[in-house]
Amino acid sequence: MLKKLFKPFRLSRQRKEPKPMQPTILDAHEHRINCAHFSRNSANVAVRLQQAGFEAYLVGGCVRDSLLGVTPKDFDVATSATPEQVRYEFRNSRIIGRRFKLVHVHFGRELIEVATFRSNHSQDDEENNSDISSHDASGRILRDNVYGNMEDDAQRRDFTMNALYFDVSNEKIHDYSTGFADIKRRLIRLIGDPEQRYLEDPVRMLRAIRFAAKLDFDIEDDTAEPIRRLAHLLRDIPSARLYEEVLKLFLSGYAVRTYELLREYNLFDELFPGTAKALAKQPEYVDRLLRNAFKNTDHRISIDRPVTPAFLFAALLWPALTTRAVSLQNDGMHALPAMQEAAHQVLLEQVQRIAVPKRFSLPTREIWDMQERLPRRAGKRADTLLANPRFRAGYDFLLLREESGEQTQGLGDWWTDYQDASDSQRREMISNLSTKSGAPRKRRRSKPRSKIPAPAVQSDE
Ligand code: ATP
Ligand code: MG
Repeated sequence: MLKKLFKPFRLSRQRKEPKPMQPTILDAHEHRINCAHFSRNSANVAVRLQQAGFEAYLVGGCVRDSLLGVTPKDFDVATSATPEQVRYEFRNSRIIGRRFKLVHVHFGRELIEVATFRSNHSQDDEENNSDISSHDASGRILRDNVYGNMEDDAQRRDFTMNALYFDVSNEKIHDYSTGFADIKRRLIRLIGDPEQRYLEDPVRMLRAIRFAAKLDFDIEDDTAEPIRRLAHLLRDIPSARLYEEVLKLFLSGYAVRTYELLREYNLFDELFPGTAKALAKQPEYVDRLLRNAFKNTDHRISIDRPVTPAFLFAALLWPALTTRAVSLQNDGMHALPAMQEAAHQVLLEQVQRIAVPKRFSLPTREIWDMQERLPRRAGKRADTLLANPRFRAGYDFLLLREESGEQTQGLGDWWTDYQDASDSQRREMISNLSTKSGAPRKRRRSKPRSKIPAPAVQSDE
C-alpha cells in the first residue's frame, strides 16, 4: 500500500531524466579526421577491445581537439567491457578510482584511460545498491559505477563537444547530441538540464570555464546562466579534487583568460576567498599582481619552460599574506614572526578549500621567506642568499612584485646586477650598501617598525 502511494513521486522524478538520444553518424569526409589523429597506442586499445568482441571508441577531449586541429593532450577510450574485462585484455593495465572506476593501460610513458560505458542511473538503482552509485541530498553524484550502453554514456558526459565517439574500424563519429555543430559554432553546451547537471557535479562549472579559456569558445546562454547562482556549490567539493582542477585551470597555458572568466562568473571567490577579500580592498594592485603572475606562467608554458604550483600559490596568496602580516604587526608582533604567522594562517585557511600538498606549500613559504631576506644583503648575507636553492624563485617573485607596482627601492635591479657582477664588483656593491637598507639592523627598543615588504602600492586605498 505504502509503495503504491510513493509510486507517483518516483515516476515524476524519472520523467525529469533526459530523453534517449539518437546518434548522428558522421562519415570521415564530413568530419575530416582519421585514425592518424590519435596516438597509435590509443587506437590499438580500441581495436583490441573490438577484436575481443566489445564496443570501443575514442571519446572526449581527443576527438574534440582533433576536430579543432589541436593536438590532444591525452586519449580516452570508452567501451562496453567492464573494468575487469579490460584489465583481462591488457596485462599492462591497472584498475583505479572509486568515484569512477577506470582502467589505466600503460605503454611506456603513455597512459590510455579506458572507461566502461556508464549510465545516468535512476534513483531506484541507488536505493537498491548504494555501493555502485550514490547521490547526496543536493543531487551531487558521490559514486557512479552503474554501467550502461553507449547512448547512456553519451548522456552522462558533460558537454556536447565531449560526447563524440570515434570508431577506429571505419573512422565514423557518433554524435548523440549537437557536439559536432557546437564545435563548429565554438559553443560550450551542457547536455541535459544545466542546473541539474551542475547540482550533480559542481566541478562542471569549472570545466566550462577551463574549456572556454583553452578553446576560446563561448559558453552557451543556458549553460552559463546558472553558474553565478550556483558558484557556492564548489564549497562542497572535496579540497583534493579542487586542487587537481585548479592546477588544470592555471597550468594549461591559458591562466590569464581563465582568471578573467572565473572572476566574471563569481567562481574565483569560492576558490580563493582570502585573495578575493584582498581584491576587494586593493583591486588595481592585486589584479595586476595576479595577471602578471598568470601572464608569466602562460609565457613559460608557451616556451616549454617548467612551471611550479608553488610559485603560483605564492602569488595567489601574497596579497592576503601581507595584509595579514601588517595587521599582526599592528597588534604588536615583530616583523619576522608576523610574516611567519601570517603565512601559516593564510595557508591553513586556503587548504580548507584547495588541498595544496606540503611538497608545494613548503616551497611557497620559502619563496615568501625570501622576500623578507632579499633586502638584507650586508656582510656575507647576499652570497648566502645567492647560494640558496630557492634564490631564483624568490628573485623572480621579487620582480613580479615590482612589476605589479610594489615599491622596493630598486631591490630587483640590485639583485640583477649582483648576479652579473665580478667578485670585486660584488664587494663594492655590498660596501656601498653601508648605511642603506641592506646594513645589519641595530636593535631597537621602541615599537617594532615594519620590515615587511610593502604589501602594495598605495593608490587603491
Ligand atoms: P582535456 O583532457 O583536454 O582536459 P577532456 O574533455 O578529455 O579534456 P577529461 O577530464 O580528460 O577532459 O575527461 C574526459 C571526458 O570525460 C570528457 O571529455 C567528458 O566526456 C567526460 N567527463 C570528464 N569529467 C566529467 C564530469 N565532471 N562530468 C561529466 N563528464 C565528464
Ligand atoms: Mg582528456
